[in-house]
Amino acid sequence: MIQLKKLSNITVMNNRVCPICDNTENIIIREIELKTYDFHPLDKNYKLVQCSNCGFMYNDTALKQVELDEYYTNQSKYDNKDVVSVGAGGITGLDKIRLSESAKIISKYIYDKDSSIIDIGCASGGLLYSLKEMGYVNLTGLDPSPICIERVSGIGNCKTILGSILDKDLKIDQKFDVIILTHVLEHILDVKKLMERLYDFLNKDGIIFIECPDSSRYHLHVHAPFQEFNTEHINHFSESTFRNLSTTMKIHIVETGLRTFKIENGLDYFAVYGVYKKTINNLAKIEKELTIDEIEKYLLISDNKLTIISDFINSLTYKNVVLYGIGQLSYKLIKITEDKQKLFFVDGDPRNQKRKIYGNVIHQPVDLPNLIDEDDSCIIISSFISSSSIKTDILRIFSVAKILPPKIFELDKLVENAI
Ligand SMILES: [Zn+2]
Repeated sequence: MIQLKKLSNITVMNNRVCPICDNTENIIIREIELKTYDFHPLDKNYKLVQCSNCGFMYNDTALKQVELDEYYTNQSKYDNKDVVSVGAGGITGLDKIRLSESAKIISKYIYDKDSSIIDIGCASGGLLYSLKEMGYVNLTGLDPSPICIERVSGIGNCKTILGSILDKDLKIDQKFDVIILTHVLEHILDVKKLMERLYDFLNKDGIIFIECPDSSRYHLHVHAPFQEFNTEHINHFSESTFRNLSTTMKIHIVETGLRTFKIENGLDYFAVYGVYKKTINNLAKIEKELTIDEIEKYLLISDNKLTIISDFINSLTYKNVVLYGIGQLSYKLIKITEDKQKLFFVDGDPRNQKRKIYGNVIHQPVDLPNLIDEDDSCIIISSFISSSSIKTDILRIFSVAKILPPKIFELDKLVENAI
């Protein structure tokens, strides 16, 4: 068993002040190495730190908001309606079930079907669609992706705003009774600046509903190793974070809550939400967040899983190893593979197929038969969530090409069998 490399020295922060309490000191918990595709705007190692005052956990990234905005506008995966990801806001399958449950939770706080409701970071508009089905008629979607906005404009009489909520030049010419922010705040560099912006657009008695992944339960189902510490999730929320967020702003917390929903591999995913209202006298005090033990459990389980995978990849003697699936898990695997020359890259997302890793092109799946060197190749499916459907696709491609498929390894099954 691997021991955690826990560093307990307090350092003055170089990059971000605590997004929740403004403290300038943090404790470094872990640096996680990443290698993304070449010229990925978020191609930086993950520096997980904990605020020494309120206990908030976050990535002390050196990125600027403008770089994040550029990424979500032009390179985001969320404008693909078929993308399998929490927060993608799709309108199919499990995402539809999740978002219709979200609509039910939010509706407990909305008393009027005419209430003006805005979903910020609405992606494909799944939540707005569910609210419309429930009879809400005054709906607006805001998103930086033009493809998403075009899709949302097709939902009934839904109004749309194209842009980033943090863009000070963005024109929003009304106030809202309900502001919804689901699976957005974990992506935002300056959390309080965003909250202040929401405050400006909130009616006097309106509510802000925010949902994020629940860091206090990451360890209960560890999907791919270190999955929660990825290029996009730079803040880690729990119920106590939501309470602490209200202490330094002109808002008070009405309620926090936990929810659980299923993702494609049948496992549970855990989220936390907070509901806020405007307030004049904020008397709430910072409470020290106590999720560090849970985070350390998560890191330990992730360490063990990643070690199993890296030992396996580094022990392979094939001349060609095809890594199928260029996402958050591959970003970690590429970095720890000793013989990088043997790696070939394949991904089903057309945008990835224009990209390179260490100068080597990312191929489309139909290229697979050409990449395979008879008996000296294997394919590794680098996805824990979609491995079964990817394997079916691979077998179909080889069947059409009338070529015997090489050995295919599914990392989720490999890890399951090893533990
Ligand atoms: Zn703090």
